[in-house]
Amino acid sequence: MSLVPFDDRDGWIWMDGELVPWREAKVHVLTHALHYASCVFEGERMYDGEIFKLTEHTERLFRSAEILDFEIPFTVAQIDEACKQTAAKNGFADCYVRPLAWRGPEQMGVSAQQTKIHVAVATWAWGSYFDPEQAKKGIRMTYAKYRRPAPDTAPTASKAAGLYMICTISKHAAERAGYADALMLDWRGRVAETTGANIFFVMDGELHTPEPDCFLDGITRRSVMSLARRHQMKVVERPIEAVEIGRASEVFLAGTAAEVTPVREIAGHRYTPTRITETLLRGYDALVRQSPAEVAAVVAG
Ligand code: PMP
Repeated sequence: MSLVPFDDRDGWIWMDGELVPWREAKVHVLTHALHYASCVFEGERMYDGEIFKLTEHTERLFRSAEILDFEIPFTVAQIDEACKQTAAKNGFADCYVRPLAWRGPEQMGVSAQQTKIHVAVATWAWGSYFDPEQAKKGIRMTYAKYRRPAPDTAPTASKAAGLYMICTISKHAAERAGYADALMLDWRGRVAETTGANIFFVMDGELHTPEPDCFLDGITRRSVMSLARRHQMKVVERPIEAVEIGRASEVFLAGTAAEVTPVREIAGHRYTPTRITETLLRGYDALVRQSPAEVAAVVAG
């Protein structure tokens, strides 16, 4: 597979208040974030010229930074605007949007009180998160070696770069074994999420999903729950034990990049994505293309 490296592309990246040519959006090797993972980020998608739930994502970025003990030197409105501006400058109506905030190179060591906080927004074309053919039939997953840490072990409510270390290792192991992704349990051995999306199970015609008490409470997850309720489905957020996954009839993932992705296997348990997965997949595809006012009405419902 030939990849165009992400540092060698045409376009513009918003960095610390201005749009800079893509190849000039650089950091020094002694950046605190690179050594100590003092970085938070977001993942958003623009559909038909509108970034889905933009302000919710920006607000989460600010909360993530606060959890990592730093303050973003811009307002939520300024970062919202930066996201829109970056997509527009790059000529996108449909793209992935990646805002991030990190500690700079002013100080090295665990203490980082003197570092400056930097912010950037990049946009790029990103189609289906999984191989589209596999995603259509439903992806195959195995278990991850790592578990999601307890909330008193890591800042689990933040979308912090450091939390993805165990995700990349787990995703690589799954891919090497021929799977598309890995299911991560939490520190108690309960079902948590995958390496980059939340998970839903259809059990006895109801939609079950774990409570996000030690992993990301996805914005897509919440949209899917609202959609399901709109379709008169019963939505149950509860602790889900690993032994229960064999009971589900349908399984799917939900995330900004993954959107709604059907799952056809988890570690030997097989599922047939049918009515409920299809309804929510189509519902989500329609929702992301509605105006912000229409989206708000659905989510309030
Ligand atoms: N969990 C993880 C680990 C993720 O990386 C993501 C994607 N941001 C999600 C869940 C889903 O979150 P969202 O729907 O807000 O994109």
